[in-house]
Amino acid sequence: MSLSEFDVIKQFFTGLTDARDDVVAGIGDDCALLDVPPGRHLAVSVDTLVAGRHFLADADPESVGHKALAVNLSDLAAAGAEPAWATLALTLPAVDTDWLRGFSRGFAALAGRHGVALVGGDTTGGPLSITVTVHGFVAVDRVLTRGGARPGDRVCVSGTVGDAALALARRLRGEAVPAELAVRLDRPLPRVALGRLLGGTASAAIDVSDGLLADLGHVCARSGVGARVERDRIPLSPALATYCRGGDWSPVLGGGDDYELLCCVPPEQLPALRVACDDAGEHLTEIGELVERPGIVLVTPDGDQPVDPGAGFDHFRGAAAPR
Ligand code: ADP
Ligand code: MG
Repeated sequence: MSLSEFDVIKQFFTGLTDARDDVVAGIGDDCALLDVPPGRHLAVSVDTLVAGRHFLADADPESVGHKALAVNLSDLAAAGAEPAWATLALTLPAVDTDWLRGFSRGFAALAGRHGVALVGGDTTGGPLSITVTVHGFVAVDRVLTRGGARPGDRVCVSGTVGDAALALARRLRGEAVPAELAVRLDRPLPRVALGRLLGGTASAAIDVSDGLLADLGHVCARSGVGARVERDRIPLSPALATYCRGGDWSPVLGGGDDYELLCCVPPEQLPALRVACDDAGEHLTEIGELVERPGIVLVTPDGDQPVDPGAGFDHFRGAAAPR
């Protein structure tokens, strides 16, 4: 017997995540009623994943549940915010309990790691699509935006970049994807702790979802600055370092989906930030600096190359490429 919409909500989403004291009313009421702590901004972000466009329809549902929340938490990280609540709008072609079980497990596991409560949503029939909205808090003096960077600030990036794009390219070509690359594409880990550490120190931040240079371009445009990036300082995993030796840097420079944080840091703040990162077990690598002259210049051993952050890496930016 197939489940009704209300059965689906009750069986898979009510009580899925741990309770929070700041949730006055959650799933089961017309509105979620939520308490925002005084003196803090409410940070809100929404992302939609569409089957066949952002993930393959036959993708592992647990990974889809993880990623639907992860990409949103990454936006909170880029704002320096502490995650609190999520809502989930789910459009399903049919009630597939195996899929729902895997999806909700992946969602709940990541929510649990970040103390996120699922407080509402919507469940409808139609082509498979997942929209998650996340809400978090950030102290008014620790806000990160794309807009505060100044010439002379250092450009830094967390973790390693390019892994997810190389995994995607290989998957689309039907090639084997090594596990250490696949995990970066399917189970990205949002840099929430790092984002909170950067608040009040970094002058600007963004998460790397469109591609390193494209996302740096967004910061430059919003901040009214340009940038010089030293290509060979960009942090790479061993798999990517090997790949780039073949001469193709496009997964690193143009590939999205890594969900690392890119931030700009005034040079006098860097030493203390390095110590704080070491203490917290976070990795941040300096890859360049901001300049007054607009535009991005890529510094390579073969000379300086001006970059158009919005073009030149279509291979990894195909609009309809399913992940
Ligand atoms: P309404 O008709 O008032 O919009 P619904 O019948 O759509 O309410 O939903 C009933 C309750 O279940 C609401 O509290 C809603 O927020 C919650 N809900 C619906 N779908 C989901 C979902 N996919 N995940 C979490 N909560 C959900
Ligand atoms: Mg209602």
